[in-house]
Amino acid sequence: TLTIGVLALQGAFEAHAKALEALGVTAKLIRNPAELKDLDGLIIPGGESTTFLKFLERDGFLDVLQSFVEATPTFGTCAGAILLANHVENPTQKSLAVLDITVERNAYGRQIDSAILTAPTKLEGDPLEMVFIRAPRITHTGPGVETLAERDGFPVLVRQGHLLAATFHPELSADTRVHQLFLDLVQEHTKA
Ligand code: GLN
Repeated sequence: TLTIGVLALQGAFEAHAKALEALGVTAKLIRNPAELKDLDGLIIPGGESTTFLKFLERDGFLDVLQSFVEATPTFGTCAGAILLANHVENPTQKSLAVLDITVERNAYGRQIDSAILTAPTKLEGDPLEMVFIRAPRITHTGPGVETLAERDGFPVLVRQGHLLAATFHPELSADTRVHQLFLDLVQEHTKA
């Protein structure tokens, strides 16, 4: 069975671990750089990207994570997507810069900063419930990036090679299709 790490420094990691276990894989909470060894994939959860960066700047965690995400399937949700993005705006912020997208943080304004939408996506089956919490907006995608779901014409679920990113929180919905999509990507990568 696959072992998927969930970065557990801060934020919404428990619900991701539950979603993964419901799909029959081993979920491992990752709290230090040494624990990134021997994983088939990693989820960087939602939370506060600035706080993640603060934690990651200790013990050389950021450098180890950088090498990891360059080579191993990684799924970033919300703050995790911000960390993967090539460019971060509002304000400009350091990132792992492995995914060819530009994100604008907290892009939906204070009044409507959180929302639950259900919309058709490129995933098979019913429209997908998407929970947005102080979400970023993907304002640009490079040519290698495939958009799998949108909100108001902007991408909210994207894939580029071994990387997947969502600006919403799939771990807060009962629907497991987005986690399954990531596991399929991990499986493909493991076989290749
Ligand atoms: N607003 C957060 C940030 O900019 C992201 C919010 C989330 O992960 N739910 O990092």
